[in-house]
Amino acid sequence: MTRILSGIQPTGGVHLGNYLGAVRYWVEDQRIGESFYCVVDLHALTIPRDPAELRQETRAMATLLLAAGLDPEACTLFVQSHVPQHTQLSWLLECTASMGELRRMTQFKDKAAKGGEEAARVGLFTYPTLMAADILLYRATHVPVGEDQRQHLELTRDLAERFNTRYGPVFTVPEATIPPPGRGARIMDLQEPTRKMSKSAESDQGMIGLFDEPKVVERKIKRAVTDTDDGPDAVRFDPDTKPGVANLLQILAAATGGDPAEVATGYRRYGELKAATAEAVIELLRPVQARYRELEADPATVDKILRAGAERAEPVAAATLARAMDAIGLLPAR
Ligand code: ATP
Ligand code: MG
Repeated sequence: MTRILSGIQPTGGVHLGNYLGAVRYWVEDQRIGESFYCVVDLHALTIPRDPAELRQETRAMATLLLAAGLDPEACTLFVQSHVPQHTQLSWLLECTASMGELRRMTQFKDKAAKGGEEAARVGLFTYPTLMAADILLYRATHVPVGEDQRQHLELTRDLAERFNTRYGPVFTVPEATIPPPGRGARIMDLQEPTRKMSKSAESDQGMIGLFDEPKVVERKIKRAVTDTDDGPDAVRFDPDTKPGVANLLQILAAATGGDPAEVATGYRRYGELKAATAEAVIELLRPVQARYRELEADPATVDKILRAGAERAEPVAAATLARAMDAIGLLPAR
Protein backbone atom coordinates (compact mmCIF):
# COMPACT_ATOMS: atom_id res chain seq x y z
CA MET A 1 0.00 0.00 0.00
CA THR A 2 1.09 3.55 -0.68
CA ARG A 3 2.10 5.33 2.49
CA ILE A 4 3.12 8.96 2.17
CA LEU A 5 5.10 10.99 4.69
CA SER A 6 6.48 14.49 4.44
CA GLY A 7 7.34 17.37 6.75
CA ILE A 8 7.87 21.10 6.82
CA GLN A 9 9.72 23.29 9.29
CA PRO A 10 7.69 25.82 11.29
CA THR A 11 9.34 28.95 10.01
CA GLY A 12 7.40 32.15 9.48
CA GLY A 13 8.90 32.64 6.06
CA VAL A 14 6.94 29.87 4.37
CA HIS A 15 7.23 30.62 0.69
CA LEU A 16 6.04 29.84 -2.79
CA GLY A 17 8.79 27.22 -3.23
CA ASN A 18 7.47 25.23 -0.27
CA TYR A 19 3.99 25.44 -1.72
CA LEU A 20 4.73 24.67 -5.37
CA GLY A 21 7.46 22.12 -4.63
CA ALA A 22 5.81 20.23 -1.80
CA VAL A 23 2.62 21.30 -0.04
CA ARG A 24 0.32 21.44 -3.07
CA TYR A 25 1.29 17.87 -3.93
CA TRP A 26 0.53 16.83 -0.35
CA VAL A 27 -2.95 18.25 -0.77
CA GLU A 28 -3.43 16.64 -4.20
CA ASP A 29 -2.25 13.21 -3.04
CA GLN A 30 -3.57 13.07 0.52
CA ARG A 31 -6.23 10.54 -0.44
CA ILE A 32 -3.83 8.11 -2.10
CA GLY A 33 -3.29 5.30 0.37
CA GLU A 34 -2.41 6.55 3.84
CA SER A 35 -0.67 9.86 4.35
CA PHE A 36 1.16 11.49 7.24
CA TYR A 37 2.28 15.12 7.27
CA CYS A 38 4.20 16.70 10.09
CA VAL A 39 5.35 20.10 11.23
CA VAL A 40 8.95 19.33 12.06
CA ASP A 41 9.54 21.57 15.05
CA LEU A 42 12.58 19.59 16.23
CA HIS A 43 14.31 20.30 12.93
CA ALA A 44 13.71 24.00 13.52
CA LEU A 45 15.91 23.83 16.65
CA THR A 46 18.99 23.24 14.52
CA ILE A 47 19.36 27.00 14.19
CA PRO A 48 18.76 29.59 16.97
CA ARG A 49 15.04 30.15 17.55
CA ASP A 50 13.09 32.30 20.00
CA PRO A 51 10.96 29.92 22.15
CA ALA A 52 7.73 31.95 22.07
CA GLU A 53 8.08 32.50 18.35
CA LEU A 54 8.76 28.82 17.64
CA ARG A 55 5.63 27.80 19.55
CA GLN A 56 3.52 30.34 17.69
CA GLU A 57 4.98 29.42 14.30
CA THR A 58 4.39 25.72 14.87
CA ARG A 59 0.67 26.32 15.28
CA ALA A 60 0.71 28.82 12.41
CA MET A 61 2.31 26.27 10.07
CA ALA A 62 -0.29 23.65 10.96
CA THR A 63 -3.00 26.26 10.36
CA LEU A 64 -1.49 27.09 6.99
CA LEU A 65 -1.38 23.43 5.95
CA LEU A 66 -5.07 23.13 6.78
CA ALA A 67 -5.75 26.36 4.89
CA ALA A 68 -3.89 24.98 1.89
CA GLY A 69 -6.30 22.05 1.85
CA LEU A 70 -5.03 19.23 4.06
CA ASP A 71 -8.11 17.45 5.36
CA PRO A 72 -7.69 15.87 8.80
CA GLU A 73 -10.29 13.28 7.83
CA ALA A 74 -8.14 12.17 4.91
CA CYS A 75 -4.61 12.45 6.30
CA THR A 76 -2.78 12.48 9.61
CA LEU A 77 -1.42 15.93 10.44
CA PHE A 78 0.76 16.21 13.55
CA VAL A 79 3.66 17.95 15.23
CA GLN A 80 6.95 16.02 15.23
CA SER A 81 7.77 16.62 18.91
CA HIS A 82 4.38 15.25 19.96
CA VAL A 83 5.51 11.79 18.89
CA PRO A 84 8.56 10.94 21.02
CA GLN A 85 9.63 8.00 18.83
CA HIS A 86 11.17 10.41 16.29
CA THR A 87 14.10 11.32 18.53
CA GLN A 88 14.40 7.76 19.82
CA LEU A 89 14.77 6.24 16.38
CA SER A 90 17.06 9.08 15.36
CA TRP A 91 19.63 7.81 17.88
CA LEU A 92 19.61 4.33 16.40
CA LEU A 93 20.14 5.88 12.98
CA GLU A 94 22.97 8.09 14.24
CA CYS A 95 24.55 4.81 15.24
CA THR A 96 23.97 3.50 11.71
CA ALA A 97 25.25 6.53 9.76
CA SER A 98 28.92 7.50 9.45
CA MET A 99 30.56 10.88 9.98
CA GLY A 100 31.74 10.81 6.38
CA GLU A 101 28.31 10.41 4.88
CA LEU A 102 26.78 13.16 7.02
CA ARG A 103 29.68 15.45 6.18
CA ARG A 104 28.85 15.10 2.49
CA MET A 105 25.37 16.58 2.94
CA THR A 106 25.25 19.85 1.04
CA GLN A 107 22.51 21.33 3.23
CA PHE A 108 24.82 21.07 6.25
CA LYS A 109 27.66 22.64 4.30
CA ASP A 110 25.44 25.51 3.09
CA LYS A 111 23.73 26.21 6.40
CA ALA A 112 26.86 25.75 8.56
CA ALA A 113 28.82 28.07 6.28
CA LYS A 114 26.65 30.99 7.40
CA GLY A 115 27.83 31.16 11.02
CA GLY A 116 31.00 29.07 10.65
CA GLU A 117 31.16 25.31 11.12
CA GLU A 118 32.64 25.51 14.64
CA ALA A 119 29.56 27.37 15.87
CA ALA A 120 27.04 25.17 14.02
CA ARG A 121 24.85 23.09 16.28
CA VAL A 122 25.46 19.36 16.41
CA GLY A 123 21.77 18.95 15.54
CA LEU A 124 22.36 20.70 12.23
CA PHE A 125 24.91 18.01 11.46
CA THR A 126 22.69 15.11 12.52
CA TYR A 127 19.53 16.64 10.95
CA PRO A 128 19.45 13.98 8.18
CA THR A 129 19.23 11.10 10.68
CA LEU A 130 16.25 12.74 12.39
CA MET A 131 14.69 13.22 8.97
CA ALA A 132 15.35 9.57 8.17
CA ALA A 133 13.64 8.63 11.44
CA ASP A 134 10.59 10.77 10.51
CA ILE A 135 10.23 8.78 7.31
CA LEU A 136 11.20 5.28 8.41
CA LEU A 137 8.99 5.26 11.52
CA TYR A 138 5.91 5.33 9.30
CA ARG A 139 7.33 2.81 6.83
CA ALA A 140 6.60 5.41 4.15
CA THR A 141 6.78 4.24 0.55
CA HIS A 142 6.74 7.76 -0.94
CA VAL A 143 8.15 11.06 0.29
CA PRO A 144 6.99 14.13 -1.66
CA VAL A 145 9.69 16.81 -1.37
CA GLY A 146 11.41 19.49 -3.39
CA GLU A 147 14.60 18.82 -5.35
CA ASP A 148 16.75 20.18 -2.49
CA GLN A 149 15.86 17.15 -0.35
CA ARG A 150 17.01 14.53 -2.86
CA GLN A 151 20.33 13.95 -1.11
CA HIS A 152 18.69 13.48 2.31
CA LEU A 153 16.29 10.99 0.78
CA GLU A 154 19.16 9.02 -0.74
CA LEU A 155 20.78 8.89 2.69
CA THR A 156 17.51 7.70 4.24
CA ARG A 157 17.38 4.86 1.72
CA ASP A 158 21.02 3.93 2.41
CA LEU A 159 20.45 3.88 6.18
CA ALA A 160 17.29 1.79 5.83
CA GLU A 161 19.06 -0.74 3.60
CA ARG A 162 22.11 -0.91 5.84
CA PHE A 163 20.02 -1.41 8.96
CA ASN A 164 17.90 -4.08 7.26
CA THR A 165 21.00 -5.92 6.04
CA ARG A 166 22.69 -5.87 9.44
CA TYR A 167 19.74 -6.49 11.73
CA GLY A 168 16.82 -7.82 9.68
CA PRO A 169 14.02 -6.37 7.56
CA VAL A 170 12.61 -3.63 9.79
CA PHE A 171 12.33 -0.65 7.47
CA THR A 172 10.57 0.05 4.19
CA VAL A 173 12.99 1.67 1.74
CA PRO A 174 11.19 4.88 0.65
CA GLU A 175 11.17 6.66 -2.67
CA ALA A 176 11.43 10.40 -3.11
CA THR A 177 8.65 11.87 -5.21
CA ILE A 178 10.11 15.06 -6.61
CA PRO A 179 8.16 17.14 -9.15
CA PRO A 180 9.60 16.93 -12.68
CA PRO A 181 12.06 19.73 -13.58
CA GLY A 182 10.25 22.98 -14.28
CA ARG A 183 7.14 21.88 -12.36
CA GLY A 184 7.94 23.50 -9.02
CA ALA A 185 10.75 21.13 -8.01
CA ARG A 186 13.13 23.99 -7.39
CA ILE A 187 11.75 27.51 -7.23
CA MET A 188 14.63 29.97 -7.23
CA ASP A 189 15.22 33.22 -5.35
CA LEU A 190 13.85 36.16 -7.35
CA GLN A 191 16.89 38.30 -6.63
CA GLU A 192 19.49 35.54 -6.95
CA PRO A 193 17.97 33.05 -9.40
CA THR A 194 20.87 30.63 -9.04
CA ARG A 195 19.94 29.95 -5.39
CA LYS A 196 16.81 28.17 -4.25
CA MET A 197 14.07 30.23 -2.65
CA SER A 198 14.60 29.58 1.06
CA LYS A 199 12.99 30.32 4.41
CA SER A 200 16.35 31.16 5.88
CA ALA A 201 17.44 33.58 3.14
CA GLU A 202 18.97 36.83 4.37
CA SER A 203 16.59 39.10 2.50
CA ASP A 204 12.92 38.47 1.86
CA GLN A 205 12.91 40.42 -1.40
CA GLY A 206 13.78 37.29 -3.37
CA MET A 207 11.08 35.14 -1.84
CA ILE A 208 7.33 35.26 -2.14
CA GLY A 209 5.80 34.56 1.23
CA LEU A 210 2.52 32.69 1.31
CA PHE A 211 1.19 35.55 3.43
CA ASP A 212 2.38 38.32 1.11
CA GLU A 213 -0.36 40.73 0.09
CA PRO A 214 -1.13 41.20 -3.61
CA LYS A 215 0.75 44.51 -3.73
CA VAL A 216 3.86 42.93 -2.22
CA VAL A 217 3.71 39.97 -4.64
CA GLU A 218 3.40 42.39 -7.52
CA ARG A 219 6.34 44.50 -6.37
CA LYS A 220 8.65 41.54 -5.71
CA ILE A 221 7.92 39.99 -9.11
CA LYS A 222 8.29 43.31 -10.91
CA ARG A 223 11.74 43.68 -9.35
CA ALA A 224 12.78 40.09 -10.04
CA VAL A 225 16.21 39.83 -11.62
CA THR A 226 16.03 38.83 -15.31
CA ASP A 227 18.73 39.72 -17.84
CA THR A 228 19.51 42.47 -20.29
CA ASP A 229 18.37 40.99 -23.58
CA ASP A 230 14.79 42.15 -23.28
CA GLY A 231 13.97 42.27 -26.97
CA PRO A 232 11.39 40.35 -28.97
CA ASP A 233 11.78 36.60 -28.27
CA ALA A 234 13.69 37.23 -25.05
CA VAL A 235 11.12 35.16 -23.16
CA ARG A 236 12.52 31.64 -23.46
CA PHE A 237 12.69 28.75 -21.00
CA ASP A 238 16.42 28.21 -20.62
CA PRO A 239 17.40 27.69 -16.97
CA ASP A 240 21.15 27.64 -17.75
CA THR A 241 21.52 30.90 -19.63
CA LYS A 242 18.37 32.70 -18.46
CA PRO A 243 17.81 31.55 -14.86
CA GLY A 244 15.72 34.54 -13.79
CA VAL A 245 13.32 34.32 -16.75
CA ALA A 246 13.16 30.52 -16.45
CA ASN A 247 12.22 30.86 -12.80
CA LEU A 248 9.34 33.23 -13.61
CA LEU A 249 8.17 30.85 -16.31
CA GLN A 250 8.37 27.94 -13.90
CA ILE A 251 6.32 29.86 -11.33
CA LEU A 252 3.72 30.93 -13.89
CA ALA A 253 3.47 27.41 -15.33
CA ALA A 254 3.23 25.77 -11.91
CA ALA A 255 0.59 28.25 -10.77
CA THR A 256 -1.55 27.78 -13.88
CA GLY A 257 -0.89 24.08 -14.49
CA GLY A 258 1.11 24.37 -17.71
CA ASP A 259 4.54 23.58 -19.06
CA PRO A 260 7.16 26.36 -18.77
CA ALA A 261 8.52 26.05 -22.32
CA GLU A 262 5.00 26.18 -23.74
CA VAL A 263 3.97 29.05 -21.48
CA ALA A 264 6.99 30.99 -22.79
CA THR A 265 5.53 31.08 -26.30
CA GLY A 266 2.67 33.27 -25.08
CA TYR A 267 4.91 36.20 -24.07
CA ARG A 268 7.34 38.49 -25.81
CA ARG A 269 8.59 41.00 -23.27
CA TYR A 270 9.64 40.64 -19.65
CA GLY A 271 7.10 43.19 -18.47
CA GLU A 272 4.19 41.12 -19.82
CA LEU A 273 5.61 37.93 -18.34
CA LYS A 274 6.04 39.56 -14.94
CA ALA A 275 2.52 40.98 -14.92
CA ALA A 276 1.02 37.58 -15.81
CA THR A 277 3.16 35.79 -13.22
CA ALA A 278 2.19 38.23 -10.47
CA GLU A 279 -1.48 37.84 -11.30
CA ALA A 280 -1.29 34.04 -11.32
CA VAL A 281 0.50 33.96 -7.97
CA ILE A 282 -1.96 36.40 -6.39
CA GLU A 283 -4.89 34.23 -7.55
CA LEU A 284 -3.14 31.09 -6.32
CA LEU A 285 -2.59 32.52 -2.84
CA ARG A 286 -5.91 34.31 -2.44
CA PRO A 287 -8.04 31.34 -1.28
CA VAL A 288 -5.29 29.96 0.96
CA GLN A 289 -4.89 33.32 2.68
CA ALA A 290 -8.64 33.73 3.13
CA ARG A 291 -9.02 30.27 4.65
CA TYR A 292 -6.00 30.92 6.90
CA ARG A 293 -7.67 34.02 8.33
CA GLU A 294 -10.76 31.98 9.20
CA LEU A 295 -8.85 29.14 10.82
CA GLU A 296 -6.49 31.44 12.66
CA ALA A 297 -9.44 32.76 14.66
CA ASP A 298 -9.98 29.29 16.11
CA PRO A 299 -6.66 27.97 17.48
CA ALA A 300 -8.43 25.47 19.76
CA THR A 301 -9.71 23.58 16.73
CA VAL A 302 -6.25 23.47 15.19
CA ASP A 303 -4.77 22.18 18.46
CA LYS A 304 -7.45 19.51 18.62
CA ILE A 305 -6.64 18.36 15.09
CA LEU A 306 -2.96 18.17 16.00
CA ARG A 307 -3.68 16.16 19.15
CA ALA A 308 -5.81 13.71 17.21
CA GLY A 309 -3.07 13.49 14.56
CA ALA A 310 -0.41 12.63 17.15
CA GLU A 311 -2.69 10.00 18.65
CA ARG A 312 -3.03 8.34 15.26
CA ALA A 313 0.66 8.67 14.42
CA GLU A 314 2.13 7.40 17.67
CA PRO A 315 1.03 3.74 17.55
CA VAL A 316 2.41 3.44 14.02
CA ALA A 317 5.71 4.98 15.10
CA ALA A 318 5.86 2.93 18.30
CA ALA A 319 5.44 -0.35 16.43
CA THR A 320 8.35 0.39 14.08
CA LEU A 321 10.57 1.67 16.89
CA ALA A 322 9.91 -1.48 18.94
CA ARG A 323 10.93 -3.67 16.00
CA ALA A 324 14.08 -1.61 15.40
CA MET A 325 15.09 -1.71 19.10
CA ASP A 326 14.56 -5.43 19.24
CA ALA A 327 16.44 -6.06 16.00
CA ILE A 328 19.46 -4.02 17.10
CA GLY A 329 19.73 -5.99 20.34
CA LEU A 330 18.29 -3.75 23.06
CA LEU A 331 16.86 -5.67 26.00
CA PRO A 332 13.05 -5.21 26.12
CA ALA A 333 11.87 -3.17 29.12
CA ARG A 334 9.06 -5.65 29.75
P1 ATP B 1 15.25 26.20 5.08
O1 ATP B 1 15.97 27.00 4.06
O2 ATP B 1 15.21 26.84 6.44
O3 ATP B 1 15.66 24.76 5.11
P2 ATP B 1 13.10 25.61 3.32
O4 ATP B 1 12.58 26.74 2.53
O5 ATP B 1 14.04 24.65 2.65
O6 ATP B 1 13.72 26.20 4.64
P3 ATP B 1 11.79 23.33 4.54
O7 ATP B 1 10.80 23.36 5.66
O8 ATP B 1 13.19 22.87 4.83
O9 ATP B 1 11.85 24.80 3.90
O10 ATP B 1 11.21 22.45 3.36
C1 ATP B 1 9.84 22.12 3.21
C2 ATP B 1 9.60 21.51 1.84
O11 ATP B 1 9.71 22.53 0.83
C3 ATP B 1 10.61 20.43 1.44
O12 ATP B 1 9.92 19.40 0.78
C4 ATP B 1 11.53 21.12 0.48
O13 ATP B 1 12.11 20.23 -0.44
C5 ATP B 1 10.58 22.09 -0.21
N1 ATP B 1 11.28 23.27 -0.74
C6 ATP B 1 12.04 24.13 -0.03
N2 ATP B 1 12.51 25.12 -0.81
C7 ATP B 1 12.04 24.87 -2.06
C8 ATP B 1 12.17 25.53 -3.34
N3 ATP B 1 12.88 26.65 -3.45
N4 ATP B 1 11.53 25.01 -4.42
C9 ATP B 1 10.80 23.87 -4.31
N5 ATP B 1 10.63 23.20 -3.14
C10 ATP B 1 11.24 23.68 -2.03
MG1 MG C 1 15.02 23.14 3.83
